[in-house]
Amino acid sequence: MTTLADCRALDAQDPLRALRDQFTIPEGVLYLDGNSLGVMPKAAPARIAEVVTKEWGEGLIRSWNTASWFDLPQRLGDKVARLIGATPGEVVCTDSTSVNLYKVLFAALSQQKDSGRKLVISERSNFPTDLYIAESLCRERGFTLKLIDASELQGPDSVLTEEVAVLMLTHVNYRTGAMHDMKAVTAAAHAVGALTVWDLAHSAGAVPVALNDSNADYAIGCGYKYLNGGPGAPAFAWVHTKHAGEFEQPLSGWWGHAAPFEFTPHYRPAPGVGRYLCGTQPIIALAGLECGLDTVLAAESFNGDHGAMSALRAKSLALTDMFIRLVEERCAGHGLSLVTPREHEQRGSQVCLSREEGAYAIVQALIARGVIGDYRAGDSQMPDILRFGFTPLYIGFEDVWNSVEHLVQVLETAEWKREEFNRKNAVT
Ligand SMILES: *Cc1c(COP(=O)(O)O)cnc(C)c1O
Repeated sequence: MTTLADCRALDAQDPLRALRDQFTIPEGVLYLDGNSLGVMPKAAPARIAEVVTKEWGEGLIRSWNTASWFDLPQRLGDKVARLIGATPGEVVCTDSTSVNLYKVLFAALSQQKDSGRKLVISERSNFPTDLYIAESLCRERGFTLKLIDASELQGPDSVLTEEVAVLMLTHVNYRTGAMHDMKAVTAAAHAVGALTVWDLAHSAGAVPVALNDSNADYAIGCGYKYLNGGPGAPAFAWVHTKHAGEFEQPLSGWWGHAAPFEFTPHYRPAPGVGRYLCGTQPIIALAGLECGLDTVLAAESFNGDHGAMSALRAKSLALTDMFIRLVEERCAGHGLSLVTPREHEQRGSQVCLSREEGAYAIVQALIARGVIGDYRAGDSQMPDILRFGFTPLYIGFEDVWNSVEHLVQVLETAEWKREEFNRKNAVT
């Protein structure tokens, strides 16, 4: 059996332990929801105040030049590139994940418009906004959205056929934490002539991603989850350089123009990923995102040339392994099933447990104890889910021990059955 002393010993040996000091974590909170909204970087309030009082308050319009506001989306994009296996100049930070998905999917569909291919494939279990965006774009552009289960991508009856225009997948599933093999799936899609669109919402800052090495086509991701950019932080978009000169931006605003300050009457797209920008950027929000990105990039110093993500990944897997082991050792007989894959190469940075009854109330009871995870509703194939995100930047092994200890108590005392934990809130 694993003990609290074992967990403390692992924390004592953890080379990344000091990274936790970059964050303000409220007293008494065990935060296992960095996959929904990352913890606030300590540097953020002062940096945002500086942007407001100095750059905005005193610099005023001069700050577009003097405070380098103008190239902020590209400068932060270069930081994101270091975390997703991209090259500087290939990424911009802008807009929301949903809006960026619209832009990249539109671009991919435009590239396929004369190919005769009519199908866009995605997973039934994908995050709903991705499916909603794809649904309306397909309707608008004359494509058909076909929803599948991940298993249908493989084998002799694979849904990947010559009819497929675009394969649009989320790399790490938001509910189950299951991760695709990006390189293999991309190769399979390319083998039938399809383009790939990857959503990295639960991957950027959570797991190593190798966009260029995987030869992916388009990717987008979220700024406020594992990148700790703050609520509603700008998201990012990437395009492979082989498409960079040709892809179409449907939201052809002046910020994506080749020369916005020439004020010409006709749109001429900027070269490369710069054309993903639409209008004037949210500078204050971008400042928050930069603080978040810097907390992740701080892990680079622990791992030489291998980048921040390989150091963080080793710890993330050790944390999720430990959580799984402790739940199985200490919560046996309480009806919890592991949903997240055990295989490391198929697991993101979260662990999901399902339960036939009471998943929502158990999560509420844990939150009342300061253990913040979240709940996601089940479907025909899966009961309701208790979801726990493990951000290796600020979660330690003793935290894992304590969160399982609370879970054991909530289950053994049937605390979750209390009425107050069974009332649904607006945001789960
Ligand atoms: C979190 C998440 C989003 C969020 O989209 P917003 O536009 O930021 O609301 C989109 N897609 C996936 C897969 C996500 O996990």
